[in-house]
Amino acid sequence: MSELSVDLSPCLLFDLHSHTTASDGELSPCDLVQRAVEMRVGVLAITDHDTVAGLATAQQAIDALSLPLRLVAGVEISTLWENHEIHIVGLGLEPGHAALTQLLEQQKIRRWQRAQAIGERLERARIPGALEGAQRLAGEGEITRGHFARFLVEQGKASNVGQVFKSYLAKGKTGYVPPQWCTIAEAVDVIHHAGGVAVLAHPGRYDLSPKWLKRLLACFVAAKGEAMEVAQCQQAPDERTQLARYARDFQLYASQGSDFHRPCAWIELGRKLWLPAGVTPVWQHPVLAALPLTAESLQRNGCEEQR
Ligand code: AMP
Ligand code: MN
Ligand code: MN
Ligand code: MN
Repeated sequence: MSELSVDLSPCLLFDLHSHTTASDGELSPCDLVQRAVEMRVGVLAITDHDTVAGLATAQQAIDALSLPLRLVAGVEISTLWENHEIHIVGLGLEPGHAALTQLLEQQKIRRWQRAQAIGERLERARIPGALEGAQRLAGEGEITRGHFARFLVEQGKASNVGQVFKSYLAKGKTGYVPPQWCTIAEAVDVIHHAGGVAVLAHPGRYDLSPKWLKRLLACFVAAKGEAMEVAQCQQAPDERTQLARYARDFQLYASQGSDFHRPCAWIELGRKLWLPAGVTPVWQHPVLAALPLTAESLQRNGCEEQR
């Protein structure tokens, strides 16, 4: 495959946040990359919760099927900041880097301990078998509250996952257990050691007032984080504009990603992903700009004609 050095990124559709069965996504890495191509995504980051286990299989599928898709190696690390669970996405990193492996091993232990505690709390609330149920749904993947939510839906405790969170798993509810995640600074540092770019995930989803969101951004910048997500598929238009303003004010690169977990009516790979004018896309960051874009992926995305 030939590599092109000219900047053809305007022709490509970037989706830089997605999940597979390696964490709480419902599609295997192989199915996810094929769906991304169907949705005309040209550059996809797989960013599973605290694991990079899906990346190798995804790349193998891309190679075996000669898919016109560039895979960006990513991860979504859970951190704790001022009692809030803040997610930091790492993009363009070396999945096997020792520092990253070490942090992810610690996070895996924390995840497992939290899952056991959630299971116990639900047991006391007369919902037996939740840990085993969540484990069954997680399979080989990292266990998350998403798996508990799916189990509770299966048990008829609520009609959908969102409702389960509201009634059982959100902060202050019966099944909520305060987590022991690493700090923002640790996550950013490890992402940098592994050669990646650190991105503050979905800043609009933490239920923070503008004052607290600005504090979070200041803390992230102080930790040397470089980018923030500005565009997602499900967003009020003013949220995107406001986040773009923050990206400019805090001199952060802007990212976009669907946070796709499963086929559903509202969220789809690549859907509604565009950045407002005046921000610098994260793919222009030197780490990501250095990634080769294959001729195939460019051609498929209609770039050959435009050159
Ligand atoms: P965990 O990392 O174990 O805390 O699980 C977090 C995951 O649960 C998120 O990445 C989402 O996939 C899912 N989740 C969290 N809050 C909600 C919610 N209110 N509705 C639906 N899914 C949620
Ligand atoms: Mn998730
Ligand atoms: Mn997240
Ligand atoms: Mn996510």
